[in-house]
Amino acid sequence: MPSLILKPGREKSVLRRHPWIFSGAVQRVDGEIVSGGTVDVLSSKGDFLARASYSPQSQIRARVWTFDDEPVDKDFFRRQIKSAIHARDTWHLTPDTSALRLIYAESDGIPGLIVDRYADVLVLQSLTAGSEYWKETIADILLEETGLQTIYERSDVDVRELEGLSPQVGFLRGTISNSRITISEYGLKFIVDVEHGHKTGFYLDQRVNRRRVGRLARDRDVLNCFCYTGGFTVHALAGGAKSVASADSSADALALGRENVSLNGLPESEWIEADVFQLLRKFRDQNRSFDMIVLDPPKFASTVAQVEKAARGYKDINLLAFKLLRPNGILVTFSCSGGVDAYLFQKIVAGAALDAGADAQIIERLSQSPDHPVALNFPEGTYLKGLVCLKR
Ligand code: SAH
Repeated sequence: MPSLILKPGREKSVLRRHPWIFSGAVQRVDGEIVSGGTVDVLSSKGDFLARASYSPQSQIRARVWTFDDEPVDKDFFRRQIKSAIHARDTWHLTPDTSALRLIYAESDGIPGLIVDRYADVLVLQSLTAGSEYWKETIADILLEETGLQTIYERSDVDVRELEGLSPQVGFLRGTISNSRITISEYGLKFIVDVEHGHKTGFYLDQRVNRRRVGRLARDRDVLNCFCYTGGFTVHALAGGAKSVASADSSADALALGRENVSLNGLPESEWIEADVFQLLRKFRDQNRSFDMIVLDPPKFASTVAQVEKAARGYKDINLLAFKLLRPNGILVTFSCSGGVDAYLFQKIVAGAALDAGADAQIIERLSQSPDHPVALNFPEGTYLKGLVCLKR
């Protein structure tokens, strides 16, 4: 087995069971090794620390498969996959919810691998050289363990470039004639387009928060900003909202949103193709107001360097939202930027309320749904945070 030897004193993070080994911590690599292949990670004194996948081109030079001296083979991946699926069976899968994340990469002990289930179709995203190396083996195990026949690959994310991997999309196993799949989420139906949709097709991380919004929306005039295919819209309408206006810059997403509303037999609602930053200003100038506003923008900061710019973006939309809210109005505001932590996000929202002249309180804190767990040894798995604020 080839080995990766760490510099003296650089074994601390591996000993704390953090799965990433940065290039700066590596003294040298001994033996023949291929991209994504398995290496033993050794301390400078030669002690075994972990077994990992090797990413020759990435700053994250290796990602740990196991901290034990055990083989990394098909049986190993079967155990990891079974345990991730079992956790969902035990805790999250309900008869009225047919879409969920089965495998969430590092948090489920399989760095670089994301697998989402949409009814009878699995969508796989491989992000690293290591997950790529084992992809075919993993695909076989996924079918064996779920009893399903179809896996669609959506490895078309930018981070693959950092690993020297090109984008890959298409059927990995089986095939279906239509890339639009109907799923249910707490009994509500959604069409998910696994081929053309964002990410793997749907924002599963917001599932529990969509239900929460549905329960808070009764008799309210709701504005759903960055609505994508209408997830919060459908839940709000089903929860008895008086009206819902939904805005997004993507015409395709809005078209699917309309379909999702009618699929559930819910009343027609307003769909607005617009840049939310401009739309909120227009509504302010028109004196339009709402009883509830949802802000679920895309990631503004992927890296720490982008945090300041991201903070300005969050402040801007939250300030405008506070202005558009009526007294006793509810703001449900999210950030999915990993670089902006919950404390900073709260400070930004507080600054926005202050500048808007709004007196508001946090009545609930929200997070990513439980099928996106955070391993305690991998805090980087935390990214989605939300605040439910009541304007007084
Ligand atoms: N709330 C959605 C997910 C939102 S994802 C759900 O529950 O499914 C973020 C959305 O913001 C995407 O649909 C994207 O098209 C949209 N978007 C990105 N920038 C935008 C902008 N400046 N104005 C409006 N929409 C934007």
